[in-house]
Amino acid sequence: MDQEQLDAPTDQLNRPMRDLRLSVIDRCNFRCTYCMPADEVGPDFPWLGKPERLSFDEMIRLVRQFSKLGVEKIRLTGGEPLLRKDLASLVRELNKVPGIRDIAMTTNGVLLARHAEELRRAGLDRVTVSLDALSENVFREMNGGFDSPSQVLEGVAAAKRAGFQHIKVNTVVRRDMNLGEVVPILEEFRGSRVVVRFIEYMDVGNVNHWERGQVVPTAELIQFISNHWNIEPVAKHYLGEVADRYHYADGGGEIGFVSSISQPFCRPCNRSRLSADGKLYTCLFATEGTDLRSLLRDGSTDEEINGVLRDVWSDRNDQYSQTRWGGDVKKEQKHKIEMFYIGG
Ligand code: SAM
Ligand code: SF4
Ligand code: SF4
Repeated sequence: MDQEQLDAPTDQLNRPMRDLRLSVIDRCNFRCTYCMPADEVGPDFPWLGKPERLSFDEMIRLVRQFSKLGVEKIRLTGGEPLLRKDLASLVRELNKVPGIRDIAMTTNGVLLARHAEELRRAGLDRVTVSLDALSENVFREMNGGFDSPSQVLEGVAAAKRAGFQHIKVNTVVRRDMNLGEVVPILEEFRGSRVVVRFIEYMDVGNVNHWERGQVVPTAELIQFISNHWNIEPVAKHYLGEVADRYHYADGGGEIGFVSSISQPFCRPCNRSRLSADGKLYTCLFATEGTDLRSLLRDGSTDEEINGVLRDVWSDRNDQYSQTRWGGDVKKEQKHKIEMFYIGG
């Protein structure tokens, strides 16, 4: 750590900023029911145009300042990040930013087979592939009717061949749709290097018309999985890790559970998020962001941008998941930004 990082800010709850989720595009080739359902996000949706999106040079300029304030990890997300042209060149430049020691990407996997090797060569460290079902019908029901799980599995295989050591599969479980896919997905990846993580369906955004009844709480899921395999909890890798880790008692590998609804984890949350048009959000459930694109384009200096980032983080007081059921969530938080706009 250099001197600037030693002076890195903490927020109102004494949390440092370590992780930056970088949304590179808001568009997607899927219409997942829990994220951007087709009946809400149709052909007339006002997507960001190219001039509105940050260029890679603008992103790198910001990441340099984020890094000076403590950020060490970058996660590329979207929308679907692989729809952004020449993503590998962004990864190459991110790798040159002092202080950035880990670059990951979350993708729906459909285009991964085409890009895995190039991304690995560019220096992408880790990849997380979202996969909600192995049955073709359920897969398409979950994602609005696109493509096939075999394409996603090819993407995972290509990532392995390209040399990615840390591959995760994210599965959002909806009680009405894919609970029956949990065991097949685990069977598919058991004994491989791939870690499956089950994510509780979250009340993020507005267009998914979230209902609590669709959430399968982690405790119930663990019970359900225990009917098939003996699994045991293991310690977290580091403070702030979002998933609870379990492993198969027989050595078949690891399973993760992300329990944003049933066991909120705001206390160690060190994540910041940048939308594709350059707005900074300090919580997944935020309603407003800070416009950094204007600063990038109005002649502001790096020092001035750094000062804004520092102020925003120092003022941060977010703990939505912790307070959502306590009656403390403000009315206006009912109009939250969408997941596909700021990424997961
Ligand atoms: N398109 C990429 C993908 O799907 O992997 C990256 C962006 S997506 C918004 C990031 C992650 O958020 C995915 O793993 C997705 O399953 C998850 N996600 C989206 N909406 C969610 C919700 N309402 N609850 C829980 N997870 C959600
Ligand atoms: Fe697209 Fe990912 Fe949202 Fe699904 S979860 S609609 S793949 S951005
Ligand atoms: Fe972090 Fe906000 Fe999620 Fe809490 S609700 S863990 S503060 S992103």
